[in-house]
Amino acid sequence: LSDRLTAALQTLSRKGRLSDADIDATAREIRIALLEADVALPVVKAFIAKVKERAKGAEVHGALNPAQQVIKIVNEELVGILGGETRRLNLAKNPPSVIMLAGLQGAGKTTLAGKLALWLKKQGHAPMLVACDLQRPNAVTQLQVVGERAGVVTFAPEPGNGVGDPVDVARRAIAEARHAQHDIVVVDTAGRLGVDEELMKQAADIRDAVEPDEVLFVVDAMIGQDAVTTAEAFRDGVGFTGVVLTKLDGDARGGAALSVREVTGQPILFASNGEKLEDFDTFHPDRMASRILGMGDMLTLIEQAEQAFDQEQAEQAAQKLTTGQLTLEDFLEQMLAVRKMGPIGNLLGMLPGAGQMKDQLAQVDDKHLDKLQAIIRGMTPAERDDPKMINGSRRLRIANGSGVSVREVNDLVNRFFEARKMMAQMAGKFGFGGGGGSKS
Ligand code: GDP
Ligand code: MG
Repeated sequence: LSDRLTAALQTLSRKGRLSDADIDATAREIRIALLEADVALPVVKAFIAKVKERAKGAEVHGALNPAQQVIKIVNEELVGILGGETRRLNLAKNPPSVIMLAGLQGAGKTTLAGKLALWLKKQGHAPMLVACDLQRPNAVTQLQVVGERAGVVTFAPEPGNGVGDPVDVARRAIAEARHAQHDIVVVDTAGRLGVDEELMKQAADIRDAVEPDEVLFVVDAMIGQDAVTTAEAFRDGVGFTGVVLTKLDGDARGGAALSVREVTGQPILFASNGEKLEDFDTFHPDRMASRILGMGDMLTLIEQAEQAFDQEQAEQAAQKLTTGQLTLEDFLEQMLAVRKMGPIGNLLGMLPGAGQMKDQLAQVDDKHLDKLQAIIRGMTPAERDDPKMINGSRRLRIANGSGVSVREVNDLVNRFFEARKMMAQMAGKFGFGGGGGSKS
């Protein structure tokens, strides 16, 4: 009995919570990592608070040390905030769809226009570029050059008419796109070196004239801490529906991504990582999270540790199965695993003759499984280890405690004994399990 007690206590301590001291110590490191990645301070604070909250509720994981576990949570939170899975472009029901680019001068809008055009073209669209940056002398030519490289048409004001009106150009461009059957129009706009009222007004006027399906805020990943104020200014001045990060080929850790995303709530759609038209991709939150954290090696290590742990558990379970040491706890775990078609499910499939049991387990639906789980959770650890001790009065107590009928408890216990017998027979028949298996 003392052996059992020790085992029960061991499970208990393994199922404990992460300690506050562990969480605080790792949180301090994460804070530094985020600040080094140029995430804005208020964003870092809010983020750390969120992670601490979640880590406090987390159970201790058998395979990871507490620091690794907190880092895993941080990584998951980061991926979640950065967008989970990537959102696709919103396109209009009635073409042409209009995508307007906005952002500071030098952010990479004009370059992006070419990249986007090429990318859209490869997907079977017929995009048209529109030059609405009439501020800088060679901005129009620059757009025409990238347009040519991408092999798409560029709409620009006729030269020699002095400085044109970008709103007028935008309007005429949409009409032309409709006429020439371009299904997507990408509008390049002017930027300034800093946030500027006049610039915002012009961008807002263009927006009103073209009624874009997407306004993409283009932001240089290298601007770091300034990302927050810039994003807020564009959000308030023009409004945007998505974000594009540029210059990710540089050495910036990409904290701007987290800042912009947290502050504006708008999704990051694309990432630019070079001057060539091909240096462009949809945004991948997981890659960005690992870059911001700067702990790529650590994340790989965590993944490997978890995989090794799963494997070890599966082997232990198989060992128990074949030596007739199966407990109700294992039984429940198996059913959960089979539902996920996890490692134990696969292992069962590989055991000769176990197909039958696997089928039986696989038939269990989620509702049924919830019930089984409730019943098993309603037992004491000792009862789970040795269901033989569950007599009539205990069955009634378990039934009452888990909100099921006594018959359902009986069914479960009987099925468990059947399964255990079956596994033991199989082990005998096929010579599994070796000599170690005589528990009760
Ligand atoms: P705009 O003022 O917003 O239109 O910015 P531009 O498209 O003219 O880009 C400004 C500068 O940044 C140019 O020299 C581009 O070649 C460069 N650039 C744009 N995107 C990237 C990028 O993803 N990586 C790198 N390394 N340079 C870029
Ligand atoms: Mg430009």
